[in-house]
Amino acid sequence: MTTADDLLEDLAITSGKRQYPRLPEGGRLYRWRGIVAGVLLLTLFGLPWLEFEGHPLFLFNVLERKFIFFGVPFWPQDFHLVAIGLLTFILFIVVFTVAFGRLWCGWACPQTVFMEMIFRKIENWIEGDYKAQKRLQAATWTAEKIRKKALKHGLFLLIAFAISNTFLAYIIGKDELLRIQTDDPANHLGGLAAILIFTVLFYLVFAKVREMVCVVICPYGRLQGVLLDKKSIVVAYDYVRGEPRGKLKKQDTAPKGDCVDCSLCVQVCPTGIDIRKGTQLECINCTACIDACDGVMNKIQKPIGLIRYASQEGIEQHKKFRFDGRLQAYTAVLVVLISVLSYLLINRKDVETTVLRASGLTFQQQDNGQVSNLYTVEVINKTFRPIELNFKVKNPDFQLQYVGQALKTVRPGELTKGSFFLLTPAKKITENKTPIEIEVTANGQLIDQVKTNFMGPVE
Ligand code: SF4
Ligand code: SF4
Repeated sequence: MTTADDLLEDLAITSGKRQYPRLPEGGRLYRWRGIVAGVLLLTLFGLPWLEFEGHPLFLFNVLERKFIFFGVPFWPQDFHLVAIGLLTFILFIVVFTVAFGRLWCGWACPQTVFMEMIFRKIENWIEGDYKAQKRLQAATWTAEKIRKKALKHGLFLLIAFAISNTFLAYIIGKDELLRIQTDDPANHLGGLAAILIFTVLFYLVFAKVREMVCVVICPYGRLQGVLLDKKSIVVAYDYVRGEPRGKLKKQDTAPKGDCVDCSLCVQVCPTGIDIRKGTQLECINCTACIDACDGVMNKIQKPIGLIRYASQEGIEQHKKFRFDGRLQAYTAVLVVLISVLSYLLINRKDVETTVLRASGLTFQQQDNGQVSNLYTVEVINKTFRPIELNFKVKNPDFQLQYVGQALKTVRPGELTKGSFFLLTPAKKITENKTPIEIEVTANGQLIDQVKTNFMGPVE
């Protein structure tokens, strides 16, 4: 009879069978991946708790469109920077993938890091190796099976809960998260629902959907077909050296390649492919097959690297990696984008001021013999602090008079608008268009010098 658990396990596999890969334990690259994963996980879980000047070091509050990178706040007014930043990031991924294939997937993608270095290890620890896991899955429900499955899924849920909280901490900040966790639940129903929804979502991803995320769902994985070519460095089987494959037999005198057809490289593959059939979209470059095959080569005293990081062209023609024309073109565009982004970031002001003469008006003649021009002002405060503003005309013959309330305080992240008149005695006007300079100070510091014109009649 099909159980609910069986159904969920089957649900995970929509285009293939549930995989039970053997762990490539003891492998050189697997050890390195473990170290890299440790650093990445520490960073991922630690970053939301770091602060700079009383604010999060990183925040990605898409709900309020507020972002903090390395302690610097970015507001909706910085949208152009975010857009260029995203474009640069996408192009970087393209260039990187063209050159080095899915290196990101195997070493740094959160899906692979969590799946291979946490969830898969817990599964092995509780249910035993890949053969024991298969047996347990096929077995009828006994107290032992219930105990193992309950422990495994309980731990999976706990980790999914931790990921969900961390994920939310990046969006709403750790202080708000702590408030949701410690305050009266009735005050935070939305926040609690979000924690619950994300916990279930992460649990399903890692417990049920698993490698199908990389093989079927991930758009980056789908892109490989377009981005990779014969020169891209990927995890590849050296068929020139390996074929014709065959089991090692003492009396066999037929010419043989180095592959002894032990199928270990297939057994360890988390996506269940045979790398000896060539580069496939399902390969996430996890290097498990490299480690497995190196182990075999060591045993039969052949050089390691029958499966290794190499390009198809490199294997065919024994060529080394070359920085070819396509890569040069992508890199040139990337350098331009990075330069533009760096220039914009370096020149980004904490406070942006725009002073414009009111459109449709030239000048007004006052009863007291003065001439006035009306100006509109916009000030954006991109800092975390409120700022006290002051406008001062540098030309001594001119006087500034606010329309309505003076433009004084601008709150953090806000845009404030106002208007003022500039006035001068008519007899001081010597040309139709007098160049004017206005100094803008914020909290006593000069932040801008705005140049504009004053229109007036020449007597
Ligand atoms: S692990 Fe190496 S030797 Fe064994 S089948 Fe794979 S490629 Fe051949
Ligand atoms: S073929 Fe090798 S590198 Fe690719 S996913 Fe399978 S084990 Fe990992």
